[in-house]
Amino acid sequence: MNAHTVSCQSCNAQIAGSMIHLGFSDMQALYCSSCPCVLLLKDWTLLEKLGISWPHLQAGDQGWQAWDRHLLPIYQKIEALFNPCSCGGTFRFMNSPRCPKCKGLLRGDVYEDKPILKERDLYAFVSVGSIYDINALKA
Ligand SMILES: [Zn+2]
Ligand SMILES: [Zn+2]
Repeated sequence: MNAHTVSCQSCNAQIAGSMIHLGFSDMQALYCSSCPCVLLLKDWTLLEKLGISWPHLQAGDQGWQAWDRHLLPIYQKIEALFNPCSCGGTFRFMNSPRCPKCKGLLRGDVYEDKPILKERDLYAFVSVGSIYDINALKA
Protein backbone atom coordinates (compact mmCIF):
# COMPACT_ATOMS: atom_id res chain seq x y z
CA MET A 1 0.00 0.00 0.00
CA ASN A 2 1.37 3.39 -0.99
CA ALA A 3 0.30 6.90 -0.06
CA HIS A 4 -0.82 8.62 -3.18
CA THR A 5 -2.59 11.77 -4.30
CA VAL A 6 -4.96 11.91 -7.23
CA SER A 7 -6.42 15.07 -8.67
CA CYS A 8 -10.11 14.60 -9.23
CA GLN A 9 -11.19 14.86 -12.83
CA SER A 10 -14.59 16.16 -11.76
CA CYS A 11 -13.72 18.87 -9.19
CA ASN A 12 -9.90 19.17 -9.43
CA ALA A 13 -9.49 18.60 -5.68
CA GLN A 14 -6.33 16.82 -4.57
CA ILE A 15 -7.47 13.58 -3.01
CA ALA A 16 -5.16 11.69 -0.68
CA GLY A 17 -5.43 7.96 -0.42
CA SER A 18 -3.60 4.70 -0.90
CA MET A 19 -2.81 2.87 -4.06
CA ILE A 20 -3.19 -0.86 -3.72
CA HIS A 21 -1.53 -3.05 -6.28
CA LEU A 22 -4.07 -5.64 -7.32
CA GLY A 23 -1.79 -7.82 -9.40
CA PHE A 24 0.65 -8.93 -6.72
CA SER A 25 -2.03 -9.38 -4.11
CA ASP A 26 -4.44 -10.92 -6.58
CA MET A 27 -7.36 -8.75 -5.65
CA GLN A 28 -10.18 -7.15 -7.54
CA ALA A 29 -11.70 -3.82 -6.57
CA LEU A 30 -15.44 -3.23 -6.79
CA TYR A 31 -16.26 0.44 -6.35
CA CYS A 32 -19.51 1.69 -4.92
CA SER A 33 -21.98 3.20 -7.38
CA SER A 34 -22.51 6.34 -5.32
CA CYS A 35 -19.71 6.90 -2.77
CA PRO A 36 -15.89 6.51 -2.68
CA CYS A 37 -16.00 3.21 -0.80
CA VAL A 38 -14.45 0.14 -2.41
CA LEU A 39 -15.01 -3.55 -1.85
CA LEU A 40 -11.84 -5.61 -2.14
CA LEU A 41 -12.35 -9.10 -3.42
CA LYS A 42 -9.44 -11.28 -2.41
CA ASP A 43 -10.80 -14.59 -1.24
CA TRP A 44 -11.20 -16.38 -4.56
CA THR A 45 -12.11 -19.61 -2.77
CA LEU A 46 -15.45 -17.90 -2.13
CA LEU A 47 -16.21 -18.20 -5.80
CA GLU A 48 -15.31 -21.87 -5.96
CA LYS A 49 -17.41 -22.61 -2.89
CA LEU A 50 -20.35 -20.86 -4.50
CA GLY A 51 -19.87 -22.60 -7.83
CA ILE A 52 -18.71 -19.57 -9.80
CA SER A 53 -15.89 -20.39 -12.20
CA TRP A 54 -13.78 -17.76 -13.87
CA PRO A 55 -13.55 -18.27 -17.64
CA HIS A 56 -10.00 -17.99 -18.95
CA LEU A 57 -10.69 -17.26 -22.58
CA GLN A 58 -8.40 -15.83 -25.23
CA ALA A 59 -9.52 -13.76 -28.21
CA GLY A 60 -11.08 -16.11 -30.74
CA ASP A 61 -11.98 -18.85 -28.25
CA GLN A 62 -15.54 -20.09 -28.23
CA GLY A 63 -17.54 -17.89 -25.86
CA TRP A 64 -15.05 -15.05 -26.00
CA GLN A 65 -16.52 -11.60 -26.66
CA ALA A 66 -14.90 -8.34 -27.71
CA TRP A 67 -13.42 -6.34 -24.80
CA ASP A 68 -13.84 -9.49 -22.68
CA ARG A 69 -17.56 -8.78 -22.39
CA HIS A 70 -18.09 -12.50 -21.72
CA LEU A 71 -16.96 -11.63 -18.18
CA LEU A 72 -19.98 -9.40 -17.53
CA PRO A 73 -22.32 -12.26 -16.49
CA ILE A 74 -19.57 -13.55 -14.15
CA TYR A 75 -19.19 -10.08 -12.68
CA GLN A 76 -22.94 -9.96 -12.06
CA LYS A 77 -22.91 -13.32 -10.29
CA ILE A 78 -20.10 -12.16 -8.02
CA GLU A 79 -21.71 -8.77 -7.34
CA ALA A 80 -24.89 -10.55 -6.26
CA LEU A 81 -22.98 -12.16 -3.38
CA PHE A 82 -22.47 -8.88 -1.56
CA ASN A 83 -24.60 -6.58 0.52
CA PRO A 84 -25.12 -3.03 -0.70
CA CYS A 85 -22.74 -0.35 0.56
CA SER A 86 -23.68 1.40 3.80
CA CYS A 87 -24.56 4.46 1.66
CA GLY A 88 -27.15 2.42 -0.23
CA GLY A 89 -25.08 2.13 -3.40
CA THR A 90 -23.99 -1.12 -5.00
CA PHE A 91 -20.50 -2.53 -5.49
CA ARG A 92 -19.89 -3.35 -9.12
CA PHE A 93 -16.85 -4.28 -11.17
CA MET A 94 -17.63 -1.73 -13.84
CA ASN A 95 -18.15 1.22 -11.48
CA SER A 96 -15.43 3.84 -11.72
CA PRO A 97 -13.90 5.18 -8.48
CA ARG A 98 -15.64 8.20 -6.96
CA CYS A 99 -14.29 11.33 -5.34
CA PRO A 100 -14.85 11.81 -1.58
CA LYS A 101 -15.29 15.56 -2.09
CA CYS A 102 -17.69 15.89 -5.00
CA LYS A 103 -18.81 12.23 -5.37
CA GLY A 104 -18.13 12.59 -9.07
CA LEU A 105 -15.90 10.25 -11.08
CA LEU A 106 -12.40 10.63 -9.69
CA ARG A 107 -10.58 9.38 -12.78
CA GLY A 108 -13.38 9.74 -15.33
CA ASP A 109 -15.12 6.78 -16.92
CA VAL A 110 -12.11 4.52 -16.61
CA TYR A 111 -13.63 1.25 -17.76
CA GLU A 112 -16.00 2.47 -20.51
CA ASP A 113 -18.10 -0.64 -19.95
CA LYS A 114 -15.22 -2.76 -21.24
CA PRO A 115 -14.17 -5.52 -18.85
CA ILE A 116 -10.75 -5.70 -20.49
CA LEU A 117 -9.99 -2.20 -19.16
CA LYS A 118 -11.06 -3.34 -15.71
CA GLU A 119 -8.83 -6.40 -15.94
CA ARG A 120 -5.88 -4.20 -16.95
CA ASP A 121 -6.40 -1.68 -14.14
CA LEU A 122 -3.76 -3.02 -11.80
CA TYR A 123 -4.25 -0.53 -9.00
CA ALA A 124 -7.12 0.31 -6.71
CA PHE A 125 -7.29 3.76 -5.18
CA VAL A 126 -8.71 3.83 -1.67
CA SER A 127 -9.59 7.27 -0.33
CA VAL A 128 -12.17 7.08 2.46
CA GLY A 129 -12.63 3.42 3.06
CA SER A 130 -12.53 -0.14 1.92
CA ILE A 131 -14.28 -3.28 2.97
CA TYR A 132 -13.18 -6.87 2.48
CA ASP A 133 -15.33 -9.35 0.64
CA ILE A 134 -15.83 -11.58 3.66
CA ASN A 135 -17.36 -8.69 5.62
CA ALA A 136 -19.83 -7.79 2.89
CA LEU A 137 -21.20 -11.23 2.09
CA LYS A 138 -24.97 -11.61 2.21
CA ALA A 139 -26.14 -13.83 5.03
ZN1 LIG B 1 -14.09 15.53 -6.98
ZN1 LIG C 1 -21.28 3.62 -1.01
